[in-house]
Amino acid sequence: MNIKEIYNKFDQIGCLTFATIDRGVPQTRIAHLFAHDHEGLYFRTMKTKAFYDQLKKDGHVSICGMFPNTSVSHNKEGMPSFEPGYTINASGDVKEIAFETLKEKAAEDEQFMLGVKDIEKYPAMTTFCLHRAWGEVFDFDFEMEHRSHKLQRTRFSFGGRQIPFKGVRITDECIGCGECMGTCSFKAIYQQDDAYCIDQTRCDVCGDCYINCPASAIEIVLEAPGPVRRHFEK
Ligand code: SF4
Ligand code: SF4
Repeated sequence: MNIKEIYNKFDQIGCLTFATIDRGVPQTRIAHLFAHDHEGLYFRTMKTKAFYDQLKKDGHVSICGMFPNTSVSHNKEGMPSFEPGYTINASGDVKEIAFETLKEKAAEDEQFMLGVKDIEKYPAMTTFCLHRAWGEVFDFDFEMEHRSHKLQRTRFSFGGRQIPFKGVRITDECIGCGECMGTCSFKAIYQQDDAYCIDQTRCDVCGDCYINCPASAIEIVLEAPGPVRRHFEK
């Protein structure tokens, strides 16, 4: 996905959750993106707000949202049920954009004019650009109303960020019993020649395969690059 496609996914949602860290404690608020270009995704806040302080001190933000329906209903069994749609998140590095730079961008591209007008009306307003980030679109159809599998995950990055691997994978300890393939309700496990493989674009990291593997051949990767950890005991 390119930045325009990522922006359009966020823009379709409108109001998004923006998360920052304040002295080790996560903080969230609702805001929106108002523009994009080859450098990244743009949003505004006021210099008087704690959000601004956190962005300046830490230099990172994480954004997420859900489309089209954020409400939770329940099926006949009383289990949570979600209308097919997607969530999207992006996390990375931000930089403040000088007003003069914003005006130069507005001269080239109408979408930045909103930011210029807002700052002219509210002098404490300023602009940030998420310029180096990674994330994913998590497209779900849990009841498989429109396709034969529940998930379609599309990972993306821009500004030179690598997409870190997080998820489950099958190791060389696999004995080829096929138990995991029968267990996976996300249809994420397939056989290629004699080997069992996980399609990361369909995997929910639910852990069912990990729990049921008789050879402990499935590992959970929570950090990358870094240690592979199993975060709970079977
Ligand atoms: S359940 Fe474990 S051992 Fe069996 S095929 Fe899957 S990964 Fe391999
Ligand atoms: S973690 Fe869940 S979704 Fe992913 S391969 Fe294993 S059983 Fe399937």
